[in-house]
Amino acid sequence: MTLARTYLDYNASAPLRPEARAAMLAALDFTGNPSSVHAEGRQARAIIETAREQVAALVNAKPSEVVFTSGATEANAWALAQGWDTIFLSGLEHDSVLAPARVSGAKLADLPAKPDGTVAVEALAEHVLLTSVNFGRALVTLQMANNETGVIQPVAETAAFAHGHDLLVHTDAVQAAGRVPVDFKALDVDMLSMSSHKIGGPKGAGALVIRDGLNLRPLIAGGGQERRRRAGTENVAAIAGFGAAAKSARSDHASAARIEKLRGSLEANLVRASPDAVIFGSAVHRLINTTCVAVPGKAAETLVIKFDLKGVAVSAGSACSSGKVGSGHVLAAMGVPANLARSAIRISLGPETRDDDIAAFLAVWKEIAGAGALAA
Ligand code: PMP
Repeated sequence: MTLARTYLDYNASAPLRPEARAAMLAALDFTGNPSSVHAEGRQARAIIETAREQVAALVNAKPSEVVFTSGATEANAWALAQGWDTIFLSGLEHDSVLAPARVSGAKLADLPAKPDGTVAVEALAEHVLLTSVNFGRALVTLQMANNETGVIQPVAETAAFAHGHDLLVHTDAVQAAGRVPVDFKALDVDMLSMSSHKIGGPKGAGALVIRDGLNLRPLIAGGGQERRRRAGTENVAAIAGFGAAAKSARSDHASAARIEKLRGSLEANLVRASPDAVIFGSAVHRLINTTCVAVPGKAAETLVIKFDLKGVAVSAGSACSSGKVGSGHVLAAMGVPANLARSAIRISLGPETRDDDIAAFLAVWKEIAGAGALAA
């Protein structure tokens, strides 16, 4: 008998939506190259343009502003590889922002994170107003929501300030898109990164949404695809799946209240079972699906393995990605002591999460991490 699994790691990757699977399967049968002018080519092109409209609609952008990429890692790398003289960023960013920033040759200006997991607009204002430095061509990159804690950043306010001071703005909206309303136009940012597999599309597809009129140098040069902005024959099936997932995710905003309620019950029971548990970012605006929790004295990696053996998939809060334990740079940037950060696990819910999943998680939690449990 196979053990029924409880999947609570949506921030690492969400299950493929049935609509995305159907769109991908249909697209696989189209032979044409989307750049070809014949009927077969035009059919493949039509699939891509439908997906572009669907992805644009999810974040209230114009279809012309959406450029498909191989994922958000590429989208982030592209936004950062624009010969910036200065990049303003916090230590909360995903590695796919931090690493390209470090090799970009730009001067990096640190935006300190507060202990609650937010980056205050004042942090940017202080930098800009109190220094008489010429920042040159400067970019502010600020994630919309953190992948580990779910904390939501004041992107619109930051963009308003930045634009008043000749700074361009990029936001990594990977964890926010499809979970909370994301409005490219209202945010008034210049670039926004998205990933297909976090919203129930296939892995290996994403987009950089680029404000109309902003010309970026391509990261990948070659053919004239994506209006000369991103070379390479498009992954038609993956893009079709991404589009279908984006369309389906739009109607999911309705299930947000249900997910938030499940998360509320999860956290209340967690704290009841382990009164010394610390839930990071719980005092501020957070994604409705994410809990990052630490119980002092428990080792996160051990907990994750024990949960896995009992049929529950969660990830270590300090993981760069599910399964791979990283530096824990997010909690470190919030000033969380290293020994507590080492205990942090991340539980992330999604549209398919049911009461039973929460109950299954809590049963294992009480056994291995609750007040009476043996040290992990
Ligand atoms: N940014 C954030 C905040 C993420 O959580 C992830 C995925 N872990 C990425 C970027 C990278 O996305 P992709 O997997 O599409 O490359």
